Amino acid sequence: MNNLKDEFLEKYSRQIIIDEVGLEGQKKIHKASISIVGCGGLGTSAAQYLSMSGIGSLTLIDNDIISLSNLNRQTLFEEKDIGEKKSFVLANKIFNINSSADIKHVEEKISEKNISSYLQNSDIILDCTDNFESRLIINNFCHNKKKILISAALQNFEIQTFIFASWKNKKNPCYNCVFPDLTNNDETTGCDEMGIIASVAGIGGLFQANLALNYVLGLRQKFDEFILFDSISLDVKKISVKKNSDCKTCG
Ligand SMILES: [Zn+2]
Repeated sequence: MNNLKDEFLEKYSRQIIIDEVGLEGQKKIHKASISIVGCGGLGTSAAQYLSMSGIGSLTLIDNDIISLSNLNRQTLFEEKDIGEKKSFVLANKIFNINSSADIKHVEEKISEKNISSYLQNSDIILDCTDNFESRLIINNFCHNKKKILISAALQNFEIQTFIFASWKNKKNPCYNCVFPDLTNNDETTGCDEMGIIASVAGIGGLFQANLALNYVLGLRQKFDEFILFDSISLDVKKISVKKNSDCKTCG
């Protein structure tokens, strides 16, 4: 038992020495349970850093297989992994980083029918998907089941990120409040065919991992901001977003 404790203290020593983290904070990180829906450019980057930080429970969900064109941005995937299931390969890679974590992988597309069985035990859900149909399903679930939702989207050189807790009070918006006109019919205009620069996808996933860790540590409790990062000018814009009283999800 002592060896395990010593290993824990040594492995996370550079985090534990920070006043805002400390041993108590590192224990909170270890107790946190996070699901990552979508193991592409955002999801692989987020999963890598969350596992390195010591998150104790991670669920990775994706029904896709690894292809050659994924290797420009989907960190941890290698040429030899082409043709394998993304969530399975990613789970194995992050187990090599943190073998004491509880890591689950699901090789299915998230749907209204199956979402509860896969996400109900997580406190925080990272939406790393590339289509609006999945985003709306995840948003509905997070609002109804009182989960923290951390969403990101990439557009050329720009990254959009949000952390939502629409159930916490009557002011916090949900994803649907920010994008009220999206319907499932908009799936064809999703971002699965958009151009993506490797480093921009990585930063997007890192923003999500960072928001998750700050939430777990109680360092940031702001749920009404749309965060825009321009990867060329390096400007960050934070736009205040209000709940839409007519929102179909949380209004
Ligand atoms: Zn809403």
